[in-house]
Order: sequence, then structure tokens, then C-alpha cells
Amino acid sequence: MKKWQPNSWRDFPIKQQPTYTDLEKLKKVEKELGSYPPLIFAGEALNLKNQLADVVNGKAFLLQGGDCAESFASFDANNIKNLFKVMMQMSVVLTFSGGCPVVKVGRVAGQFAKPRSSDFEEVNGISLPSYRGDIVNDIEFSEKARGSKPKKLLKAYNQSAATMNLLRAFSRGGMADLNQVHLWNTDFVKDNTLGEKYDEVSSKITEALNFMKACGITSETTPNLAQTNLFTSHEALLLNYEQALTRKDSITGDWYNCAAHMLWIGDRTRDLKDAHIEYFRGIKNPIGCKVGPSMKEDELIQLIDTLNPENEAGRLNLIVRMGANKVGDFYPKLLERVKREGKNVLWSCDPMHGNTIKADNGYKTRDFEAILSEVKQFFQIHKAEGTYAGGIHLEMTGQDVTECTGSASSAVTTEGLASRYHTQCDPRLNADQALELSFMIADTLKE
Ligand code: PEP
Ligand code: MN
Repeated sequence: MKKWQPNSWRDFPIKQQPTYTDLEKLKKVEKELGSYPPLIFAGEALNLKNQLADVVNGKAFLLQGGDCAESFASFDANNIKNLFKVMMQMSVVLTFSGGCPVVKVGRVAGQFAKPRSSDFEEVNGISLPSYRGDIVNDIEFSEKARGSKPKKLLKAYNQSAATMNLLRAFSRGGMADLNQVHLWNTDFVKDNTLGEKYDEVSSKITEALNFMKACGITSETTPNLAQTNLFTSHEALLLNYEQALTRKDSITGDWYNCAAHMLWIGDRTRDLKDAHIEYFRGIKNPIGCKVGPSMKEDELIQLIDTLNPENEAGRLNLIVRMGANKVGDFYPKLLERVKREGKNVLWSCDPMHGNTIKADNGYKTRDFEAILSEVKQFFQIHKAEGTYAGGIHLEMTGQDVTECTGSASSAVTTEGLASRYHTQCDPRLNADQALELSFMIADTLKE
């Protein structure tokens, strides 16, 4: 194997990349990005890796979630705040009811680039390049909008930096204080039975905090009661961008992707001979890889050996996304083999990407029942194998959207999808649906 460099991926075949026409401009933008400050530093990525090692060892649970694709148009403080709140709510439910510490990782502050099933989209006989995320081109269906523009890389960086800044402020500046547990309930969740169920949990926490206060334990004595870590992650698809933010740690001399704490490889770009695997093997961040139904046993072992040659716990998160109809057939064999070979990996469940359907009225959606079914099967498969189901990976938002159908609390119907369908790409769980799912997982973790 040739020596790894931040740019060695350029010698390999690569999938799912935009076609830039102005290569001079692209080079200039990459150079400029290369001079910008990192968004995270190595110590934080290592801290996350250690926390993920706890997950691998069954001592914590990973909650990873956020938009399918962040967008420039819906960039505002309220959206970020609502995502933060719903992640806090979910982790309170999981920690309190499920009795398990939660490692929180957002699909946020850099989750822009999208792989597409086709390079072109055809509407009324006109064919144009597919939309690949706001970091590449615009969603509007016109020739101008669908051209790939290098300067969008800079805007994506700036939006990521501002998002990260706000998330850090929320995490440290009082928003994560457990004494605020009631305030994380957003208005639309408050109004239904799920809101009541959450209120019960938060009242019990407040009671416990009062008791602790009387015993002299407060956020002054125990800062963890008032602050949290919300780590960031995205699919590192656009390697021009990722390379520009890959930096050498001055202490260890190791290379880190400093655009996010954790990066993952998508199901469509994980070919062992391709550029993405080459890039990922050289960075020291904790990383993820999607595992879809086409993954073969031998291929998975080779992938694990390439990406985690030292068999380090916390380094590699395998994000299983088979679909409710396939997970029972395809997953147990993979899990059994990886267990047999003694590989230390984190197994998490993405119940979204194998369950996408097109509704009769044309909307791309996912049914809550299918999502729930895949999650339940995931836990059962692990129970049967005697291994630890470590986490969940969701496309979700803190907003009151109507993109996925079903759930007891929110009951979005196919006809109702049109009312608040705002996603830039795949359908997301709304805050109700995400919270309902976390109550179900908490019950499973307790068992
Ligand atoms: C995604 O996470 O948005 C995605 C495209 O997933 P996958 O690679 O699993 O298809
Ligand atoms: Mn998606």
C-alpha cells in the first residue's frame, strides 16, 4: 500500500462527485479553505473516540441525528435550537428511563453533500444534473441552478462554523442545564400525550435534582449537571472539501479531519478500491461506514481491517441500514461473522435509509411503523447474538414537519404530507416522532 497523504485519494476511482467546469476557481477555493481555521481540534475527536469505546463496551448508547441535508435557506438559530432541544430531550429519556449514558452526535454543522441515485434528473423531457446538496449546486430546477459552483464550499464552511459556534454556546452556556429539563419541550410536543409523558420524566428529574441540592450537589459542585457535549458529524462525500480541512495535529503528528468530530462513508461510496476508503484510512477521527443489504461478509471484514487495523474500540461505527424487510435476512450473518473474528466495532441502526418509499401522491416518505420495526429487529438480532446494540442514527429535526407518516403521537397521513414538507432531501422524523422512538428504545434498553 502506498503512503497515505491527505491528497492520496486523488489517485483512486471516485464516485458521487460533482462535475466542476471552472477548475481554476475550484483550486483557488480549496486553497482558501485550507487556510481557514479548523472547526474542531484533535483532542475533541479523541474524547469522542473514548466515549464511543464505552459504547462498544456496552456502557453507553450513541444517539446520532439531524437533517438529511442542511440547507442554506433554512439556516437560522431557531432550527439549530430546536434540534439541540430534541436531542437533549431524547437523551434525557434514554438516560433516565433507559438508565444509560448517551453520547450525542449531530448530523449537523457540515452535513451538506448528498449522494444521488442518478447523475441527472428529468422533468418534462428536460434533463439536468441532479441536486447534490447546497455545498455543490442549487435545488431549483434550472440549468443555472444545477451547475456546480466552487464558491459554495466557502459558504458551507461559514455556515458550519456559525452552527458549531451556537451549539457550543448551548452546550456550555446554560441551555443544557438539567434544571431546564422542562424547557426542552417544544410547544408542539407539549400539547399531546407524549408531551405529558415527557413532563412526567422531567418532573422526576427535577425532584431528584432538588434532593441532590439539599445534599449539597449542584451544578457548581458537579458541572456535568449543567453542560453537555454535542459532537458533530457528516458524510465526508466531497473529498475536495474534506482534504482542505484535514490538518496535522501538532502534538502527535497524526492527521485529523477538522471539519467535524466524526465523519462517515455512505453506502454508495464504500467500495474498497475507491477514493473514500483511501481518504478515511488516514484520518484519526472516529469514523462511520454505512452498511446496506448489498454488503458481503468478506467485504465487511476487509473493510474493517482497512479502516481499523489496530482493532481499536471507538474508532469504527458500522451504521446498519438494511430496511425493515431485509434486516432479518441480511444482518445476523454479518454480525455473527464480525463477532466470531473478534472485531471491536460499534453497531448502530439507521432505520431511515432502507425504508424510503414514494407515496401515491408523489412524496418521498418513510412510515413510522417500518422505522420502528427495523429498530426492534435490530435490538432482537443483537440480543439473540449476545452482542450490544450500540446506537441509533436518525434523520430528524426539532421542527414540526410532516415528512414521515404515522406514529401514535403525531399521526401524519399520506394526505397530510403536503402541509409542512420542508426537507431538502430525505424525509425526517419530526420532534414528536423522534421522542416517541426514544421512549420505545428506552424501554428496550431497560430490559
Ligand atoms: C444519508 O445518510 O443521508 C445517506 C445518503 O445514507 P446512505 O449512505 O446510507 O444511503
Ligand atoms: Mn438521507
